[in-house]
Amino acid sequence: MSPARLPAVPAAPGVTLITGATVIDGTGAEPREGCDVEIRDGVITAVGPTSPAATRPDTLVDGAGAWLMPGFVDAHVHLTMPNGARAEDERLKFAEEHAFATAESMRLTLDAGVTAARDLSGLTPGYRNAVAQGLIAGPRMHMSIALLSPTGGHADPIHANGSVAGYVAYEPIPSWAVVDTDEEVVKAVRTLMRTGADVIKVCTTGGISTPTDSPDDLGLSEEQVRLIAAEVARRSGRAIAAHAQGNAGALAAVRGGTTSLEHGYEMSEELIAEMRAHGTVLVPTLSTLSLTPDPAVKPAAVVAKKKEWQVRGRDAAARAIAAGIPVALGTDAGIHPHGRNLAELGHLVDAGMTPLAAIHAGTQAGARLLGLDAHMGTVAPGMLADLVLTGIDPLARIHALADARTVEAVMQGGRVVKDGAGRRSTPRA
Ligand SMILES: [Zn+2]
Repeated sequence: MSPARLPAVPAAPGVTLITGATVIDGTGAEPREGCDVEIRDGVITAVGPTSPAATRPDTLVDGAGAWLMPGFVDAHVHLTMPNGARAEDERLKFAEEHAFATAESMRLTLDAGVTAARDLSGLTPGYRNAVAQGLIAGPRMHMSIALLSPTGGHADPIHANGSVAGYVAYEPIPSWAVVDTDEEVVKAVRTLMRTGADVIKVCTTGGISTPTDSPDDLGLSEEQVRLIAAEVARRSGRAIAAHAQGNAGALAAVRGGTTSLEHGYEMSEELIAEMRAHGTVLVPTLSTLSLTPDPAVKPAAVVAKKKEWQVRGRDAAARAIAAGIPVALGTDAGIHPHGRNLAELGHLVDAGMTPLAAIHAGTQAGARLLGLDAHMGTVAPGMLADLVLTGIDPLARIHALADARTVEAVMQGGRVVKDGAGRRSTPRA
């Protein structure tokens, strides 16, 4: 199995020194006060008390009174989904308008402190390339490109009356694949790998918000998930992410060998035991679960269905956390507003995590899920300098981090990509 692709970003040449910060390193360890962090050519070279004069930095970042954490990983986003846009307006736009709107969502996500993210349908590799080339600002991206479901399933864009969902008209590469037979599953997976997918996204259940199916409905079977696991193992070992809300479809995904369970809004003791046995990661997407549809806009049945699943989903997350199932932070942004990604930290704490454990879920655990924890997710020598600086004490006020303005500075590869509080300076030679 070859290692996961490390998406590139432009790095800062030379020496950067962050002084006097309280470091929360992402491993779950207690904060360390008064740390200096030395960065050379985009990589952390020292963490601890050092002398700015001795290191002769090209760039200084004043960390006094601030908390320094690894850049966050949002393991479940949809960056091409425009928040608040009406479907009928969307289909009248030109392709460039969609692309620029997606670039804006990527910028908002980075400004929120997310330096790496996993897009689980919609984003295409051109965006990853544009970030690497410095054409747009955004997280390092892993992506599934599309999601797989059967005819009539969660990702089927054809409505009951035969009409087609509006987004089909403007997507350069389809964000969906309808697969019924095993041959169709294998063909879709091979096509996605050719296009550049880092992860294969499958739907083993329906969804709360979809009109034609429900979380209790099954999608791809356990055998088909196993078939995909065998197929990716034959090539370069990509991860599998399973959209699974109800318990039965979640069991199929876990037993078939998915790497992560996305949503997991219903959790039997049997499912918890299977996840533990398989080492499955839970991405509970509580940010999106917590959104209640507007009763003035949505039918009463849709609102009632969501409220029922909110109770189940919060209980499921709490029990998985209490059972020690590994959790990675994911928001389902696109459904949830872009740029409020760290709201999920507060939801994870509400579900029973300590703030330190929630930060770990959003940093080292997310990096591990992406197969990139040797490069990012912790503040330690040898790691990429993807970092976040905030004036808010995350252990005391974790819910405040939902507001991106509390994220004062963001660095990627040692380059300051957000400096909201003017903490950066260039010392005289
Ligand atoms: Zn999603």
